[in-house]
Amino acid sequence: MFNLGSISSPEKETPRRVKVLILGSGPAGLAAAIYAARADLEPLVLTGTELGGQAALTYTIENYPGFPEGVGGAELGELFQKQAERFGARIEFDTAHAVDLSQRPFKVSGDAGEYEADVLIIATGASPNHLNVPGERELTGKGVSYCATCDGWFFKDKKVVVVGGGDSALEEGLFLTRYASTVTIIHRRSELRAGPILQKRARENPKIQFIWNTVVTEILGQEKVEGVRLKNLQSGEESVFETDGVFIFIGHTPNTQIFRGQLEMDEHGYIKVNQQMETSVPGVFAAGEAADPHFRQVVTSAGMGAAAAIQATRYLESLQKEQPATVRG
Ligand code: NAP
Repeated sequence: MFNLGSISSPEKETPRRVKVLILGSGPAGLAAAIYAARADLEPLVLTGTELGGQAALTYTIENYPGFPEGVGGAELGELFQKQAERFGARIEFDTAHAVDLSQRPFKVSGDAGEYEADVLIIATGASPNHLNVPGERELTGKGVSYCATCDGWFFKDKKVVVVGGGDSALEEGLFLTRYASTVTIIHRRSELRAGPILQKRARENPKIQFIWNTVVTEILGQEKVEGVRLKNLQSGEESVFETDGVFIFIGHTPNTQIFRGQLEMDEHGYIKVNQQMETSVPGVFAAGEAADPHFRQVVTSAGMGAAAAIQATRYLESLQKEQPATVRG
């Protein structure tokens, strides 16, 4: 688990002026913090609402180099945190809700304080997509979940369904077999998107079954989930499937809404960056899932975070070199 004791609450005095402000405490944000701290830039990390990012919600990460037996997501996050703090990074509980990137220093309004930064590194990650079907919102926390690691335990010896056909759906579905009596994966196509290793494991697991070419059109239940209404996309046939839980893993949307109109983004809201992790505004860098529609792995996010911090260091150095010239001019 994260060492919460060492994470401080924001100081009252605002606006706080920092050289490097990092938004987000997932692999990208904390890797950026390690690099910026080692460059003596005393970075301040605002954790955002999900401490450790999505990776911290993953039970085991098996493909992060250096951990041949795998590593718990929360444990890996804590190791990142310790490493960043060891070099002087400060990590504080706050979430940015507005930014002004039109002037320097950049201004950031958090729920708990105001900040001014010479450099901003955006590592705000992405959030799980919703099905947007009747019953989903009403029954979230009452059987509808977006996190097997968080909620799987509540479904001991119960029947659950998993919606989606990607790596997340299969990985989380496999995790749920520890608790649930059956895990039914409902996928809208007849081919999985997930990688071959996960596919093989899921197909060989006796607790897992698949319903193909089918979407969930409604989640049923009053006080708790009792079933899902299904529609077969090939035959058009509708049916009701009884279940105690619905785990939804149908992709993610980048958490970049507050930068809209100020930074260039693609049509899905991913922040556009070049190879140096530079955004369309000089001095603003982005890393991890907020800027990565392609790879979205813990290791690639951490790599992007490191690259952003290295480039941020170079940017600050170039500003320092420019300043005497400006004075002379
Ligand atoms: P994803 O790869 O985008 O897969 C989303 C799945 O949800 C797809 O199967 C998609 O169906 C389905 N879907 C999307 N919208 C839907 C809707 N409205 N209704 C029903 N189904 C819907 O997302 P992900 O699985 O979260 O993975 C995200 C990234 O993280 C990927 O790059 C993945 O490789 C990575 N990841 C890796 C690991 C690992 O390596 N162990 C674990 C987890 C995630 P279609 O297939 O028909 O599009």
